[in-house]
Amino acid sequence: MTSKQEVILSGIRPTGRLHYGNYFGAMKSFIDLQEKGHQCFYFIADYHALTTVTERVDILQQTIDMLRTYVACGLDPVRSVIYRQSDLPCTAELALLLGMITNIGHLERGTTYKDKMSKLAESSQGGEGNPLSYGLLGYPVLMAADILIVRANQVPVGDDQRQHVEMAIDIAQKFNHRFGETLSIPRAVERNALRLPGLDGAAKMGKSDNNTLDLLDDPKTVLKKIKGVQTTTDPEPLDTESNDPDMVIPKMPYSVGALYRLLSLLAPEDVYLDFVGKYRRGEKFYGTLKTTLAEYVSKFNEPIIEGFNAPNNTPDSIKDFLHENAKKVTPVGLETVESCRQAMGIGRSLYRA
Ligand code: ATP
Ligand code: MG
Repeated sequence: MTSKQEVILSGIRPTGRLHYGNYFGAMKSFIDLQEKGHQCFYFIADYHALTTVTERVDILQQTIDMLRTYVACGLDPVRSVIYRQSDLPCTAELALLLGMITNIGHLERGTTYKDKMSKLAESSQGGEGNPLSYGLLGYPVLMAADILIVRANQVPVGDDQRQHVEMAIDIAQKFNHRFGETLSIPRAVERNALRLPGLDGAAKMGKSDNNTLDLLDDPKTVLKKIKGVQTTTDPEPLDTESNDPDMVIPKMPYSVGALYRLLSLLAPEDVYLDFVGKYRRGEKFYGTLKTTLAEYVSKFNEPIIEGFNAPNNTPDSIKDFLHENAKKVTPVGLETVESCRQAMGIGRSLYRA
């Protein structure tokens, strides 16, 4: 146990299968913080999933599969409060209240919003399904509500979400400044948070980007995906003396960087350093790099796949704990929403179904 118990909050969208970016950017910290005995709230962001879908998807099914993966990775629904965002609907009420003090210009400058806008604009056909939805623009307000509703101190997320956490901090500070000290202010995300590149060479691996290496991929799929990663035949010289992955990897092309980053996360240091040396010397080595990495990945995935398929890890068992954990988080969430209503002057609610 740590000397001071912190409140931890983080969520993942049920938009596909969990990948290595999700694991090393977020899930690994979820598990570490749970093991340290903090008060952890981990939710599946099903409302957030709706901000980018353009047709009906079985989000409930995807939620259940994602939670079976959570359990397989070591998250424990007894020690951590694991719930569905939509089972805490007062989050939407808090988002509405916070929306009253959020500047539209601030939201329009959000990098994730701008990225998603351009991707959705490219994929929408003939003007059908205007990608500019109110929900997409308001994503950071909903995320602020997720964080502030449980009074989180710490928000373990990957680098791509750092700006959203900063927006949540700004919104909470503005609220307290205008209406009096009501909301707890979370800490900002550290500068060195991870952003794992995609296997296709994109700057970020993402569930919705079809460029992922997944925790449930079997050895054949792992090898096929890793072999398919584009590698330059002649490595660029490394203009650094350092062996530190944070110094070395950003200097590589993204697709090669993804392989090296994965190796640095999964293999013993001497194996990783051996391949850095080969890169420096410009030796022909990508074939062995890929087969070596594929072995580490498959070894890592094996117990997760087994845990996913374990006889006690069923959709029914997931629904049972979702029900129990929604009961645990609801009083916490309602208390925050009621105190915000009070602070803003509309007063506590007189009736709730
Ligand atoms: P989508 O493409 O649907 O947005 P995603 O892969 O980006 O999916 P999210 O559910 O948006 O996943 O994010 C869940 C968590 O995983 C967040 O904390 C996010 O910062 C982290 N994360 C996602 N992708 C990466 C990545 N490539 N590197 C590091 N962390 C990541
Ligand atoms: Mg994302």
